[in-house]
Amino acid sequence: MTSEIESISERVAQACRVLGTLDLTRAATGHVSARIPGTERILIRARGPEEIGVRYTSAEEVVEVDMDGRVIDAGKSGLAAPQEVFIHTEIYRERPEVHSVIHMHPPTVMLFTICCKPLLPLYGAYDPSSARMAIDGIPVFDRSVLINSPSLGMRLAKTMGKSKACMMHGHGVTTAGPSVEQAALYMIQLNDLATINYHAQLLGGAKPISKEDQDIISNSRPKVTGVADGSPPKGAEAALWKYYCRVTQPAEG
Ligand SMILES: [Zn+2]
Repeated sequence: MTSEIESISERVAQACRVLGTLDLTRAATGHVSARIPGTERILIRARGPEEIGVRYTSAEEVVEVDMDGRVIDAGKSGLAAPQEVFIHTEIYRERPEVHSVIHMHPPTVMLFTICCKPLLPLYGAYDPSSARMAIDGIPVFDRSVLINSPSLGMRLAKTMGKSKACMMHGHGVTTAGPSVEQAALYMIQLNDLATINYHAQLLGGAKPISKEDQDIISNSRPKVTGVADGSPPKGAEAALWKYYCRVTQPAEG
């Protein structure tokens, strides 16, 4: 195993641990993947009889698969690609700029798909990144079954288009980004957006911020420079990711 593959596998496992510990998915369900740069291969969290759960994922539980979802190197014996590997392979096929795909089952976001309610831009400076997700609109995939075939994966990828996230009716969420850390932050931001929408609608009277403020927030998005190569984010996003890694770190002893 090359040091590049080891390092990407550890980042994939780290993202699993962070999102699992934040309760953004149920038990063992959910997976994070990353492209191996310059190849037609990806690294993905595997499933198997010995797994414990997303929040306990180690780099040894990350396997290499090809673009047809076949395991190339299973590493630890007994591990297999997730049934829904086609969510990942079909998004990578469709979007060359994407270096990481994450699929989880966050309950609060899923409630909005069940009730067919959109996530509204209810706040601004509280968290502009997730507010922009609501302003841009988040596509919803209308099927509720496992995405266990290339054709279902392709339908999901088409529904998602160029979005950072896609909500899946009665199922969960898929995010896609230029790096593992960024795709994980999209999952966290979408969950925050859904949590605030949920509580605000319970209180009653929730209404979107003004169109003027929506436009200002929409136009103030950080500039994207250079071509994504899957490397970890820099600046504010790096700091934010470090925070989530620390806050989800298990207590010593
Ligand atoms: Zn799923």
